[in-house]
Amino acid sequence: MRVLLVEDERKISTYVKRGLEEQGYAVDVAYTGLEAMDWMSTVEFDLVILDILLPEMDGLAVCRKLRSQGSRVPILILTARDSVDDRVAGLDAGADDYLVKPFAIKELLARLRALARRVNEAPRETVLQLADLTMDTLTQRVKRGGRLIPLASKEYAVLECLMREPEHVLSRTQIAEHVWNYDVFNQSNVVDVYIRNLRRKIDDPHEIKLIHTVRGSGYRLSAEAEIDERV
Ligand code: CA
Repeated sequence: MRVLLVEDERKISTYVKRGLEEQGYAVDVAYTGLEAMDWMSTVEFDLVILDILLPEMDGLAVCRKLRSQGSRVPILILTARDSVDDRVAGLDAGADDYLVKPFAIKELLARLRALARRVNEAPRETVLQLADLTMDTLTQRVKRGGRLIPLASKEYAVLECLMREPEHVLSRTQIAEHVWNYDVFNQSNVVDVYIRNLRRKIDDPHEIKLIHTVRGSGYRLSAEAEIDERV
């Protein structure tokens, strides 16, 4: 899950970023309304957390602009005080939910999960499966042959990326873009490290290997033995 956090107060943005990253979210931060618009025009995010009071362009204006451009990304706004007017204005501007500051990171996480669920309900499956490998995206449990496989949050995110598109070859950059924020995703060999860990946990104990390297291209998740490995 890729999140854009728009918050000019560094203390809050640092705290929230860390809290979300610990839960496996990839977080990019914008400190002004215009910066947020820049990010939104170049990167596809799964969720946006948007403060109302921002320099250059306030959160409500950002929200209205995004909606007028046709963006349907789920937006959670942060309001400084528990003012009914602010909340109504936020929802009127096209936000999906709001949270009043100060808030506990736990509550923010719960809201984000609910938002993601709402959006994902229709088109997305909550349980992904390939052969005897299953991933429940609500509980974040991964099992192979019915046995639970504990994964670190980024390992889970890399695997989810592959499981959402079984049989497709995904490049290291494609995977990295979905899992890490902008600072990290130029180092595509990071992906190799996580793939190695996933292989150890998911494939090593089993005869049928699911994670395949497609030389020169990237990785593919498939229950078929690799016969067409290209150079
Ligand atoms: Ca602010």
